[in-house]
Amino acid sequence: MKDKIVIVTGGIRGIGKAISIAFCKAGAKVYAFGRNLPNSKTDFSNDETVINNIEFVKVDVSNLEFVSDAISQIAKKESRIDILINNAGITKDNLIIRMSESDWDDVIDINLKGTFNCIKATSRIMMGQRYGRIINIGSIVGTIGNAGQTNYAAAKAGMIGLTKSIAKELASRNITVNLIAPGYVDTDMTNKLSDEQKEFFMNNIPLKRVANADEIADVVLFFASDSAKYITGQVLHVDGGLAM
Ligand code: NAP
Repeated sequence: MKDKIVIVTGGIRGIGKAISIAFCKAGAKVYAFGRNLPNSKTDFSNDETVINNIEFVKVDVSNLEFVSDAISQIAKKESRIDILINNAGITKDNLIIRMSESDWDDVIDINLKGTFNCIKATSRIMMGQRYGRIINIGSIVGTIGNAGQTNYAAAKAGMIGLTKSIAKELASRNITVNLIAPGYVDTDMTNKLSDEQKEFFMNNIPLKRVANADEIADVVLFFASDSAKYITGQVLHVDGGLAM
């Protein structure tokens, strides 16, 4: 990853933070996008390599204009963008009869449209350089569904179609596009689950434990590496066997 230019959306907390740190430690220069930035790099990490290799960018991924501006500034400064990791995501769970229109719109706008926005703003740059790795963070819920998450499941399922279609569009330019679908990862997002929901997952995960964010970051690193250069358009569940 040495000197690779990497964008990680939602790269400041949770799974995205683990991804940002993993790429920084592997020698990449990482631009971490988020709506709320840390006060300082030392608030984010005390590892010197991470501090040297990370930049924070305040961007709401659901807004194409903001995304395009941020990405063109990075491309201007670095002359290239090698790897895009679309990780930013939210949940606004409710049963369909109680789900508001804005809960639907917000989840689709950030998870699905946010991914479209970042790929749209990056793909021309990657096409020009005849190289790119795009890795989308979906969810097993996009494959198996989940009661109370129609908005989130629809967004994550949409990301699968988007991944495969863009993989076909960009393959001839040496750009791979893949999706990693985590199961239950210990982050702020899952801390919101009720005890019953947590117990349901624990009882149904064959490996009998939740993932930590580093275990997702490891797989992202693999998809971005040369070892994965012949893999595109794939969905990989990283879920301890939950969605088998
Ligand atoms: P998290 O701890 O809640 O972090 C979400 C990240 O996304 C934050 O950094 C947040 O930063 C950023 N974000 C949210 N809305 C954004 C926006 N409009 N623009 C830019 N950044 C935005 O969640 P997580 O668990 O790490 O989840 C990361 C990804 O993994 C998500 O796509 C999620 O759907 C997926 N996933 C998680 C799990 C799990 O068990 N945790 C399972 C399957 C899939 P700001 O709030 O500062 O903007």
